[in-house]
Amino acid sequence: MLEVNQAESIILSLVQPLDADKDVETIDLLNSSGRILANPVVSKLDFPHWDNSAMDGYALKFADVKDCSPENSISLEIVEEILAGSKPQKQIQPGQTARIFTGACMPIGADTIVIQEVTQREGNRVLILEAPEPQAFVRYRGSFYKAGTPVLNPRIYLGAAEIAVLAALQCTQINVYRRVKVGIFSTGNELVKPDQPLKYGQIVDSNEYALTIALEKMGVEVIKFGILPDEPEILQKTIAEAILNTDFLLSTGGVSVGDYDYIEEIITELGAEIHVHSVAVKPGKPLTVASFPNTKCLYFGLPGNPVSALVSFWRFVQPALKKLAGANEAEWGPEFVRARLLQDLNSKNKRETYLWGQLNLGNDGYEFKLAVGSHYSGNLINLAGATGLAVVPLNENFIPAGESVRVLKIN
Ligand code: AMP
Ligand code: MG
Repeated sequence: MLEVNQAESIILSLVQPLDADKDVETIDLLNSSGRILANPVVSKLDFPHWDNSAMDGYALKFADVKDCSPENSISLEIVEEILAGSKPQKQIQPGQTARIFTGACMPIGADTIVIQEVTQREGNRVLILEAPEPQAFVRYRGSFYKAGTPVLNPRIYLGAAEIAVLAALQCTQINVYRRVKVGIFSTGNELVKPDQPLKYGQIVDSNEYALTIALEKMGVEVIKFGILPDEPEILQKTIAEAILNTDFLLSTGGVSVGDYDYIEEIITELGAEIHVHSVAVKPGKPLTVASFPNTKCLYFGLPGNPVSALVSFWRFVQPALKKLAGANEAEWGPEFVRARLLQDLNSKNKRETYLWGQLNLGNDGYEFKLAVGSHYSGNLINLAGATGLAVVPLNENFIPAGESVRVLKIN
C-alpha cells in the first residue's frame, strides 16, 4: 500500500500536459473565463499609451509653482481645457497652465499636475495655493508596461483581471488550451439514478452528480457513461471504448476486494499497467490508477463510497487534471492551509486520515470546526457544507483541540 505522497507523485508523473501547439483553440475573450492561456501575450503599445493626468486639476511647470503656499500663492494663465480623450492644442509656457481632467493627455511643456482642491479659479486665471511634488500625478507613458515585453505568461488561469488586461490590449480572440475530456461512470448492480423509483436495497447513484459538478467547475468537458452493472463483459466493452475518446476516465465502485469488484481484472485484460492499487488514506483506501498501451488516457478507479470518491477526487484527481489541462505547477494544488483545531481529532487507523468540517478565518488565522455526526466514508450527509478536510498524519491517532493542523481546502 502506497503512502499518500508516493501515490501523489506517481500520479503526477503519469500525466502529460496538453500540447502547446496541438491542443490549443482560439476563442472569444468573453468566453474565456476559467480557461488556461496557451501563448505568451505581448502588446505593441506602452501602458499608459500617453503621458496623462491621474487627477482633476491643472497641468503646469513645476518650476513655476515650487515655492508657492497659501501666503505666497501664484497666479497662472489658463490657456486651454483638456478633456480625457482629446488632444492638447497648446504648448505650456512659463506662467501658463491648462485645466485638465483625469485620464486626459499632458500638454507639451507641462510636467506636473496640481489638484484642483489646492487652487482657486479666477476667470481665465488660477491661483495655486500649495507647492506640489515634482511630477505629481502624472502617469507617464510606459510606466505600467513597456511595449514588446510579455504582459501575460502562458499557463495562467483567466479570471476577471487577466481578461480585463487582454481587453485593454484589444485581444478579443485568444489562444487557450482545449477543454480536457473526462469520462465518468458508476458501477454497481444496486445503483439507480436520482430520478428513478428506489426499490428495496437499492442505492441512489450520487457519484455521477458529485463528479459531474466537481469536473464542470474545473472547466472539464464531461462525458457520461451512466451506471454500469457489475458485469465484466459490459464493463470491459465500455472501458475499451471510453479510453479511446477521453483524457481521463473515472469510475466509482468495484475497486475494493469484494467478489464483484472487477475493475482491476478487466483493465488488466485490456493491457493496462496498474500504477496505484491502494493508498494508506482514509477515506479512499482502494484507488486504482492505470495507463494503457495504445492511448494516453489515464484511468482512475475511485472507491464507491460517496465521501471516499470525492476525497480521492480532491486529493489525487484534481491536481492531476490541472497538470493535464496545462496549468502552471503552482496551480496544481491541492491547496493546504494551517488551521487551529476547535475540537480534538481522533483517528483509529494506521492511515493518513481526512476529517471534514468547516474552515473559517478567525482573529488569529484559520480555525477548523469538525462536522458533527459520523465521519464514516458512507455518510455523505454531513459532508455537505464542509469547506476543509483536516489531516491526521499517518501513524498519529490523536490531535488535541487548540493544536494547528494541515487542512485541505475543498469546494
Ligand atoms: P464498492 O466500492 O463498489 O464496493 O462500493 C462501496 C459502497 O459505496 C457500497 O455501499 C455502494 O453501494 C456505495 N456506492 C457505490 N457506488 C456508488 C454511487 N455511484 N453512488 C452512491 N453510492 C455508491
Ligand atoms: Mg460495487
